[in-house]
Amino acid sequence: MSDEIKTSQAQALWTGRFYNDGINSHDGLFDKLREECGVFGVFGHPDAASLSYYGLHALQHRGQESAGICVTDGSGFNYHRDMGLVKEVFNNDILGTLVGSSAIAHVRYSTAGESKLANAQPLIFKYRGGDLAIATNGNLTNAAEIKHDLERQGSIFQTTSDTEVVAHLIARSQHDDIVLAVKEALLKVDGAYAFLFQTKDKLIAARDPHGLRPFVMGRLGNAYLFASETCAFDAVGGTYYRDVEPGELLVLDIARGSMTEDRFAPIQRRAICAMEYIYFARPDSDIDAINIHSARKRMGRQLALEAFVDADIVTGVPDSSISAAIGYAEQTGIPYELGLIKNRYTGRTFIQPSQELREQGVKMKLSAVRSIVAGKRVVMIDDSIVRGTTSLRIVNLLREAGATEVHVRISSPPFMNPCYYGIDTPDRKELIAAQKSIEEIRQAINADSLHFLSKEGLLGSIGRPNVELNRGHCTACFDNSYPTRITEESEVGCGCD
Ligand code: SF4
Repeated sequence: MSDEIKTSQAQALWTGRFYNDGINSHDGLFDKLREECGVFGVFGHPDAASLSYYGLHALQHRGQESAGICVTDGSGFNYHRDMGLVKEVFNNDILGTLVGSSAIAHVRYSTAGESKLANAQPLIFKYRGGDLAIATNGNLTNAAEIKHDLERQGSIFQTTSDTEVVAHLIARSQHDDIVLAVKEALLKVDGAYAFLFQTKDKLIAARDPHGLRPFVMGRLGNAYLFASETCAFDAVGGTYYRDVEPGELLVLDIARGSMTEDRFAPIQRRAICAMEYIYFARPDSDIDAINIHSARKRMGRQLALEAFVDADIVTGVPDSSISAAIGYAEQTGIPYELGLIKNRYTGRTFIQPSQELREQGVKMKLSAVRSIVAGKRVVMIDDSIVRGTTSLRIVNLLREAGATEVHVRISSPPFMNPCYYGIDTPDRKELIAAQKSIEEIRQAINADSLHFLSKEGLLGSIGRPNVELNRGHCTACFDNSYPTRITEESEVGCGCD
């Protein structure tokens, strides 16, 4: 890894208030892709703020830099946002001030090194129709174009977030009706999104016409819930009802206490993000009624069919690769073992360590279990290879612990193209699969053998019917086939930044 990359990663982790040392896979040291944001919404429940707190907690893996909840009781907004984990941002006193039966809430991950409270969501705007709160997950691929146009016409932007672009489009609409104004705004934007809009009397949920980002609706008694993942419903005792459909717009009216199903655009080529199934979503979540853990197990089984190797044990890189490793072990009959253990208690520290200590920190976070792997031929399952630095570190951990062979199997195709739909990915020149052959990657990560799951194997494992292009998935980071228009101004990553 170049010094430049090391420095930028160190900066990315330092927020100015704490060193976000990360306890999960969204960790700069481990060079993984980062999901950037999760949304949660409640309509028609007297404890909307508390439900949002627990919902956000379940979505914490989708964003760890800031959290926020905006609640309304039908007369005005009560909201709180701050930098930090959900448990750091909220306490009982704060939640006690968030009185109301309708809420939208957000967790966010930033790629920026500086603390950006201004970008913490929900973003709150005042326009001629009153107060407007917006929370979103995703990225608008024509946001820069629209922003330049609006700025030329005199608009002034307070944040660098795409969400503010949508707020300006709503504010400039000729329609006084917020629903018509939102529809008009959404028809002008391209990209991937799950939007929650809130006024003092309405909550509106909308998903992009391709359904790129996951967005689900649940029920809790008579209340409606919305979330990026179904695991948030389990956390509040709710149940999954259905996915928000691509191009759909759901309007919940506080005065009437009811929901209207509407749409702002027809469904286009359906393209749910394949990486949600491979890596981002929690294993206990379902997307389009397909359980993530089960899909990952099938990926592991398929990987075994495509790339069997004789070995003594199978191990998965915790946490996101364990399901695929179990599938690989089941298919081959090679025992699954906990050859790698993640230390869950490293957490955050207020001390910014030197680079040397950060390198040592890798070993604090992930250990190879010597008594399990010593003298063994190990199949190591991982979900993806980004720059290759993570894989090299983990292969070396296993070798230092005495593994005689390390065969790496990846439960996704080579990651070769950046994501414009809300996932923080490095530039193409930093993606090892875009620069090297598979044999060169094998050498770079010091593995005895290396295989990636085929795209067909991946899509078959997820299990959606084979009736649409790519079985209704986005696979652009593998095949460069982006489902929306990408321009030179389109920005990689997340629109909340
Ligand atoms: S480009 Fe890759 S990470 Fe981005 S939405 Fe498509 S499948 Fe997901």
